[in-house]
Amino acid sequence: MDRVLVTRTPPGRALDMLQASAALDVWAEERQMPRGELLQRVAPVDGLYCMLTDRIDEELLDAAPRLRVVSTMAVGIDNIDLAACTQRGVIVGHTPDVLTETTADTAFTLMAAAARRVGEGIAYVEEGRWKRWEPDLLLGSDIHGTTLGIIGLGRIGRAVAKRARGFDMQILYHNRSRDTSAEDELGAEYRSFADLLQEADHVIVLVPLSDETHHLIDAAALAMMKPTATLTNAARGPIVNPVALADALRSGTIAAAALDVTDPEPIPADDQLLDLPNCIVIPHLGSASVATRAAMAELAAENLIAGLRGEPLPARAGPG
Ligand code: NAP
Repeated sequence: MDRVLVTRTPPGRALDMLQASAALDVWAEERQMPRGELLQRVAPVDGLYCMLTDRIDEELLDAAPRLRVVSTMAVGIDNIDLAACTQRGVIVGHTPDVLTETTADTAFTLMAAAARRVGEGIAYVEEGRWKRWEPDLLLGSDIHGTTLGIIGLGRIGRAVAKRARGFDMQILYHNRSRDTSAEDELGAEYRSFADLLQEADHVIVLVPLSDETHHLIDAAALAMMKPTATLTNAARGPIVNPVALADALRSGTIAAAALDVTDPEPIPADDQLLDLPNCIVIPHLGSASVATRAAMAELAAENLIAGLRGEPLPARAGPG
């Protein structure tokens, strides 16, 4: 029987599914598996069921000579050296599509919360500062009828654009290549990176993390945005330079930001971004609905089982 290491207990039926086809070693603690433990326990396994917090690199592959399949419970694979896996014939599975709508819900919610200063409103009430109605209290910017700039109009970006249409927003997008079907279906308009930043009232980042997108949103990019604009990052933390963002929020270069993801992650409690009233930070909850996390866990299990059987994966990442 194949042996599989599971680096965190997944929700839903995933463990039962895996148990039926492999001998499992499950890290059942409520914390990330320490690197040393991972490198040791991966040695005898044929399959690895991992999380986005596990780094799958040459060192790990060296430690796992029998490994044939890596299945991550995420769509983003920036934690996995896909080229190194491919070179060694290790197949990689991930979980696109099943999390698209939920992550779009989160991204849109964060953008709306930043625009309407929900974080500041909650703090105002909780700190006992709400004494009377004020005509100019915590005035934010509109969502409806404004211009949304989506950087990364892929699966999740398109689902965000669908929501934006319901709010009568003009939709701009920037990808490396134009997506004419999205333009036809969603009325999205292509812009260069600079034009999108200059024109959008609200910018949402939904590109994968790569060498190309690391610190894509830096001081120069933030300086191009409107002083009334909001920035939402629902992709991966390192796409935004956190020091440049804190400076921009403090100096009024942009109005507000909302982050589902941070760099580093978790963000330390004393990070300067957490002291800024115009910055909302939540702990990487993009896909965190009960139904979606169960669906992700099950798709990751299906990927692993198929890979071990030598069958096509329901969702294989890259050429594998
Ligand atoms: P996707 O369908 O692959 O879409 C990614 C889009 O980004 C594509 O349209 C791609 O278009 C564009 N893109 C890639 N590199 C780019 C670059 N250098 N410059 C400009 N555009 C670029 O992926 P998805 O399923 O929508 O997921 C997107 C990302 O969201 C994932 O990689 C993951 O990191 C993140 N995510 C986060 C959460 C969360 O919990 N917060 C949940 C799910 C996913 P081109 O190829 O034409 O450039």
